[in-house]
Amino acid sequence: MGIGNQVHAQVRKLVVVGGGSAGWLTAAVLAATHAHDPAIEVTVIESPQVATVGVGEGTWPSMRETLRRIGVGESDFIRACDATFKQGSQFNGWIGRQQRDAYMHPFTLPNGFLETDLVAGWLAAGADTPYAEQVSFQPHLCAANRAPKQPATPEFAAVANYAYHLDAAKFGQFLRQHCVQHLGVRHLSAHVNAINSHENGDIASLQTRELGAVEGDLFIDCSGARALLLEQHFGIGKVDLSPVLFNDRALAVQVPYPAPDTPIACQTIATAQPHGWTWDIGLSARRGVGYVYASAHCSDDQAHATLLGHIAASGPTDTAALSEPARIAFAPGYRRQPWHRNCVAIGMASGFVEPLEASSLVLVELGAAELAEQLPATREDMDHVARRYNEGFDYRWQRVADFLKLHYVLSQREDSDYWRAHRDPATSTERLREWLALWRHHTPSRRDLVRAEEVFPSASYHYILYGMDWRPELRAAPAAIAAGQAADHFRQAAELARRMRAALPSHRQLIAHIQAHGLPRI
Ligand SMILES: Cc1cc2nc3c(=O)[nH]c(=O)nc-3n(C[C@H](O)[C@H](O)[C@H](O)COP(=O)(O)OP(=O)(O)OC[C@H]3O[C@@H](n4cnc5c(N)ncnc54)[C@H](O)[C@@H]3O)c2cc1C
Repeated sequence: MGIGNQVHAQVRKLVVVGGGSAGWLTAAVLAATHAHDPAIEVTVIESPQVATVGVGEGTWPSMRETLRRIGVGESDFIRACDATFKQGSQFNGWIGRQQRDAYMHPFTLPNGFLETDLVAGWLAAGADTPYAEQVSFQPHLCAANRAPKQPATPEFAAVANYAYHLDAAKFGQFLRQHCVQHLGVRHLSAHVNAINSHENGDIASLQTRELGAVEGDLFIDCSGARALLLEQHFGIGKVDLSPVLFNDRALAVQVPYPAPDTPIACQTIATAQPHGWTWDIGLSARRGVGYVYASAHCSDDQAHATLLGHIAASGPTDTAALSEPARIAFAPGYRRQPWHRNCVAIGMASGFVEPLEASSLVLVELGAAELAEQLPATREDMDHVARRYNEGFDYRWQRVADFLKLHYVLSQREDSDYWRAHRDPATSTERLREWLALWRHHTPSRRDLVRAEEVFPSASYHYILYGMDWRPELRAAPAAIAAGQAADHFRQAAELARRMRAALPSHRQLIAHIQAHGLPRI
């Protein structure tokens, strides 16, 4: 086909390479959004030889909307993926002090956040109570192991804002089944081993070992970190974030519960370690525990010992009976241009920084939604859509880097060069250095985070900054007024905590109820 014809060609055949969480989520969102257009065909090609990354068990609350959008039932999803509820993250040992070194980043906005400056009130009250515990009921629910909703609350509705913890392998299988059975997605089990191009350099088809050529109009590279199309074919490199965020290795292991009635944590527990941090995620059938660390600071053997030591200290577990942890290496960074010609990368192919704050799947959801909603009608439209998409994702990745780095820069830990290097302003982003200077006298606001679809809203920055003991000096007169207003919101948050603790079931009780009976569907 000549260049002229191709420019006006309609975009109808959408070919996704990769059957990990990114590939199936993207295929599902594309197919569900265009379900009423019989001309749109969505195909997923998944190699029978290349395994998925097999991790990625923490999500962001946006996943509720994504699952609803693709037509999945919440109870079915919870049963199939051993999923549980996640109300936020708890950070243990990050501040670097002897006593009470723990704080929460809950998903619910602080009570009264949009009405007054709660930080002024918190400081006026002496800042003795951890910030999140003063401004939100949710840390109290997590501490009491309460679920974020009742058995009578309909699917996807919340009493307290929540996301999920899920089994990554089961999630992929569940999405595949849903895509094929309910959304008309074509699934090809085949290994792509060559790329055929049009004269103008666009991809014409993917050559597979088993099934010959698969043609398409738009190709979505969800092939994981190897980025088969964007990097290996087009040579689009990544922005290297390793000078800012040092972690580049992970060990991950599945840990059984000691007894069937062991409480299930309703938050991701992120515990600082000498050269990184461990995650601890409670699913219905097991825990998922891992250590993410920096190979420049710590050997794999050291990391292995730290992980097992952490598991042994976290409760009665026979560490000798655990399977060997999976070892994962990654290069923190993001694709310079995730959309190039008629190809867009989503998921690990577009970048990955580290698991802190579960920013990866939420970027998949945002990418898939934007692609589906802005799907170019013709090849001619594609470059305009691509330019805007690339600008948006460049901004998002930069904010992800700022926000994740914020967790490290305020730490007072002195136990390793790893933590001292994180504090060195030379390893920070320029934006974060500017912000921290500004936030000595202001609190983070929508004036700092200006986009409608920020990955992390200003409230999240509050939870981390003040959780990490940041004490700004606010202008006295407005602070005094705000402090008076904040006191009422604190009382309400405490009252909500008291009432919800009494009214909500335990996390395990609710999961057992859903597995047996399901939640009401709206
Ligand atoms: C240690 C760690 C912890 C993480 N924790 C979280 C978390 O808590 N929350 C979160 O949101 N994210 C997390 N992530 C990221 C998350 O795992 C990924 O975003 C998610 O799993 C999506 O991966 P993917 O589908 O892009 O890639 P993969 O799972 O690697 O899938 C790649 C797919 O491409 C296919 N493929 C590759 N080559 C070919 C070929 N030649 N032909 C055909 N098919 C091919 C493979 O068969 C596979 O199906 C974590 C990542 C790591 C490394």
